[in-house]
Amino acid sequence: PSAEVSIRDLTVVYRTDHGDLPAVSHANLDLHAGQITGLVGESGSGKSTLALSLLNAVPEPGRISTGSIHVAGVGDVTRLSGRRLRRTRGSALGYVFQASQNSLNPLKTIGRQLLDLGRSHDVEDLRGLVNRAKDLCERMGLDGTRVLDSYQHELSGGMRQRAGIVLALVLNAKVLILDEPTTALDMISQAAVLDIVRGVHREHDLATLVVTHDMGVVSEIAERLAVMYGGRIVEHGPTTELLRRPSHPYTRALIGATARIVGDTGLARALPGRPPDLTTLARRGCVFRDRCPIAMPVCEETDPALTEWAPDRYRACHADPTHSTPGTAAAPVPA
Ligand code: ATP
Ligand code: MG
Repeated sequence: PSAEVSIRDLTVVYRTDHGDLPAVSHANLDLHAGQITGLVGESGSGKSTLALSLLNAVPEPGRISTGSIHVAGVGDVTRLSGRRLRRTRGSALGYVFQASQNSLNPLKTIGRQLLDLGRSHDVEDLRGLVNRAKDLCERMGLDGTRVLDSYQHELSGGMRQRAGIVLALVLNAKVLILDEPTTALDMISQAAVLDIVRGVHREHDLATLVVTHDMGVVSEIAERLAVMYGGRIVEHGPTTELLRRPSHPYTRALIGATARIVGDTGLARALPGRPPDLTTLARRGCVFRDRCPIAMPVCEETDPALTEWAPDRYRACHADPTHSTPGTAAAPVPA
C-alpha cells in the first residue's frame, strides 16, 4: 500500500555563526496507515527537527534545504506556505508537540483553543466540533466538559497530554505525530497515555509517528523503529527484529544502555561519549565514528548510505552486517 507520508532525502539546516549546519541529513522514511513508527535517538539527534518538518514548521533560524515530504491527499508539504499550509496542519497532520515547545496556549481554555482551531480551518459546525472533542475526551477517560473549560495549568501532565491528542485528532487527521508524549509523565500516566495512543491509532487507522529518546517506550508501542543519530537515520526496520538483531553499532549501544537503565537506574548513563553537536555533523565521514567500537578508516572518509542489508532491514554502516554480533551491546568506548 502506498504510504500516508513519504519523506525523501530530507535535509534541514540551522543557520549559525559557522554557516548552515545540518540537524537532519538526507533522511528517508515512510509512514503507513495502521502502523505506529517509533523515531528514537539521544537528545539532539534531530528527532524534533525531523518531526516539525512534517508540518513544514521548522522554526527560524532553521529551514528545509533539500528533499520532499509527500502527504497523501495534500502533496509535498515542503512546497506549501501560508493559508494552504495552515489548513494542512491539523486537518491532515495532527501534531502533539514536545512539552517544552508548548503547543497549548496558557492564556486560553482548551475549549477556546478548540474553537480557534475550528475557525482557522473554516469549520462551520462548531457545535459538532465541540461534541466530537468531548467524545474523544470521554474515550480517553477525561471529563470532556471539564477539560474544555480548563486552562492547561488546571490539568495534570497526563490530562494535558491527552487534551493535546484530542486537539490533534479533532479535525480527523489521518497522520498523528507525537513528540515525546510520555517524557514528562510518571510511570502510571506514561502507561495510560501509551494505551490511549494505541487505542486511537487503531480506531482511526492512523499513520502514527512516536518520537522519543526512550527505547523502552517505542519498543513497547511501535511496530517499526527508525533510529536517529546525528541527524541521520542510521537504522530502521520492524521493531521485534531490530531489537532481536540490531545491526548498526549505535542501535546496539542504545539497546545496551536501555538494558543497563532498566537494571540500575542510579548508575546508568545513556551512552559512553558525547552526542555530536551541529559543528561536528558538518564533517565528512560517518557521524558515529568517534563513539563507534568498530570504526574503520573508511568511516573517516565516507558517510555510509542507508541500504537494505536484509529484507526490510535498513542500516547506514560500512561494517559487514554479517560480522556484527547479534543482540550484544557495543563495547564501551574509553572516555
Ligand atoms: P531532544 O531529545 O532533546 O528533544 P532532538 O532529537 O529532538 O532532541 P532537535 O531538537 O531536533 O533534537 O535538535 C537537533 C539539533 O539541532 C541539535 O544539535 C540542536 O542543538 C540543534 N537545534 C535545534 N533547534 C535549534 C535552533 N533553533 N537553532 C540552532 N540549532 C538548533
Ligand atoms: Mg526533541
